[in-house]
Amino acid sequence: MTTPAVEIRSVHKLYGALHVLRDVDLVVRPGEVVCLIGPSGSGKSTLLRCINNLEKIQAGSILVDGGLVGYRWSGADLQEATPRQARRARRNIGMVFQQFNLFSHFTVLQNLIEAPVRVLGVPRREALERAEELLAKVGLSDKHASYPAQLSGGQQQRVAIARALCMNPKLMLFDEPTSALDPELVGEVLDVLRDLAEDDMTMVIVTHEMGFARQVADTIVFMDQGRIVERGPADQVLDAPREDRTRRFLERVG
Ligand code: ADP
Ligand code: MG
Repeated sequence: MTTPAVEIRSVHKLYGALHVLRDVDLVVRPGEVVCLIGPSGSGKSTLLRCINNLEKIQAGSILVDGGLVGYRWSGADLQEATPRQARRARRNIGMVFQQFNLFSHFTVLQNLIEAPVRVLGVPRREALERAEELLAKVGLSDKHASYPAQLSGGQQQRVAIARALCMNPKLMLFDEPTSALDPELVGEVLDVLRDLAEDDMTMVIVTHEMGFARQVADTIVFMDQGRIVERGPADQVLDAPREDRTRRFLERVG
């Protein structure tokens, strides 16, 4: 059997006394697109941040491409990923947030080559070539010399996606990538995500765009109060939810 892209087992996450992830299990297969839905405060962002090792978990294990990111129970021992293991796992992951987080004093092209050159040690010429390729992919070849402030929100988010792709991630995490955008700019960003899905990129996408989720998701995961309540293909979770909580949520987001 192929190694899962992400393997989350019995994960618990607490902020002080606040128990935000409760016994979460989730396996993401290579090439799978998972859309994570659920009410505000249900733990969606926290789960993504744990996968990316931006947050420590208190129990359970998280493996990315077979490499340990979070803790793992082995017998009675709680084993922590070494910094090297965690770094290696993280290198496989690209993350895109609601806010675009571009370097405002860098041009688009400088934004794209910064991490490959500095972190991965990719030769500058090679990084530039790859960056131009990815800008073309997100439809922004003509903007390589622009500064973020000269771009629309939709364009900035597409640059942020291209920037994450410059690191050649095996897994992309998106946390409400269109929530900060004016409605007329949402489509162009979702189009880029659709293209990535067609290229078989493995993705976990937190989104409130149910129409989009229905189109691209292999699996929809519904979370509430720190638990995965329900998961399955879109036609099952969205059209014939088994759980009351899922049904009520879907009625609300309509
Ligand atoms: P979602 O993304 O589904 O809206 P979050 O993962 O952001 O939910 O938050 C889950 C819960 O954890 C919420 O109750 C939130 O207030 C809490 N929380 C998130 N981040 C922190 C933090 N850094 N410190 C304390 N509590 C947090
Ligand atoms: Mg969130």
